[in-house]
Amino acid sequence: MGQKLVCSVCGREQEVPTCCDQSMILKNGYLLCCCSKDCGYQPIPECCGKKMVYN
Ligand SMILES: [Zn+2]
Ligand SMILES: [Zn+2]
Repeated sequence: MGQKLVCSVCGREQEVPTCCDQSMILKNGYLLCCCSKDCGYQPIPECCGKKMVYN
């Protein structure tokens, strides 16, 4: 809970997207719902031309 995505270039932070009331997890370069594969996946948000990272 309370995880954030941070831009490694400018330091901007944003909340990790949620699905099924839980933070999505990072897997194979995508964000996945940890509850069900049926929820699908989302691309990782980008900032400054780079994918944001979990801090
Ligand atoms: Zn940035
Ligand atoms: Zn879900």
